[in-house]
Amino acid sequence: MFKEAVLKDQVVVITGGGTGLGKEIAKICAEHGARIAICSRKPEHLEAGRAAIEAAGGEVLTGLVDVREPARIRTFTGEIMERFGRIDVLVNNAAGNFIYPAEKLPLRGWKSVIDIVLNGAFYCSQIMGDRMIRQQQGQILNIVATYAWTGGPGTIHSASAKAGVLAMTRTLAVEWARYGIRVNAIAPGPFDTPGASSRLWPTEEMQQAVAGEIPLKRFASTEEVARAALYLLSPYADYITGECLTIDGGGWLGKGIGHAVDHLDKFVELREASKKARLK
Ligand code: NAP
Repeated sequence: MFKEAVLKDQVVVITGGGTGLGKEIAKICAEHGARIAICSRKPEHLEAGRAAIEAAGGEVLTGLVDVREPARIRTFTGEIMERFGRIDVLVNNAAGNFIYPAEKLPLRGWKSVIDIVLNGAFYCSQIMGDRMIRQQQGQILNIVATYAWTGGPGTIHSASAKAGVLAMTRTLAVEWARYGIRVNAIAPGPFDTPGASSRLWPTEEMQQAVAGEIPLKRFASTEEVARAALYLLSPYADYITGECLTIDGGGWLGKGIGHAVDHLDKFVELREASKKARLK
């Protein structure tokens, strides 16, 4: 994306970095000179991530970490420090999600998603942020979603957690600016990953219906979303902090009465018919 190695020698940690968007961000950061650490719960995901990062020419450390467990995050942070000596970037990407009506949502489902998305992002930010504070330099990038501010019918657990992470982004951007730490977020609309498609649009028909709601009429590719992440992590965004960059093909703006754009001819027809009726 950039001609220069904009992340040369930077140490980038990505939670959930072995699959989907996390893996794509890991790859693009490696291609731009970064050394990478990824963590998640499943060894097969970490191995897939390792292979992709190494194929992109990057050096990688993997760690079996459940972000709900601060003790394990602390151990992994120690392993990163031992291997690379510093932490320049933390990407809070790990998440879980599924669709369920709020009134029937099992409390363990609510707790699990809040624990992974909101608590996990805070634990990682506090523990790895401590290294950045000592370095007087660093960056945190949080992956949220547009329903952090629109609300997310059918995914109240994830929407509530992402809203919390967005508030955390803005709060830490101000509190930690004095340590030279920038904190930003990206808010993608839907993009197709095995994790998302199996839980959020399990049929072709559902996927098309979701895409049909987006003004650009398609999902983002994971690469498009990863490029936005790289931009915020690059020196070209050095003066940006506390910001949330939306990459959703106009999706959230298209909500509300935005659906009218798909039926403009019909609206004109109805208006003309009512005018004629009034003149009679
Ligand atoms: P994904 O492939 O399912 O990625 C989720 C990752 O999180 C997996 O690598 C998973 O690895 C890891 N993870 C889950 N629970 C964990 C835990 N307790 N501890 C550590 N790691 C954990 O999903 P994706 O579609 O790429 O989503 C990536 C990010 O984008 C998420 O933050 C998601 O909310 C956000 N997002 C996605 C979409 C979309 O349409 N796809 C839209 C908006 C925002 P393990 O299973 O190995 O733990």
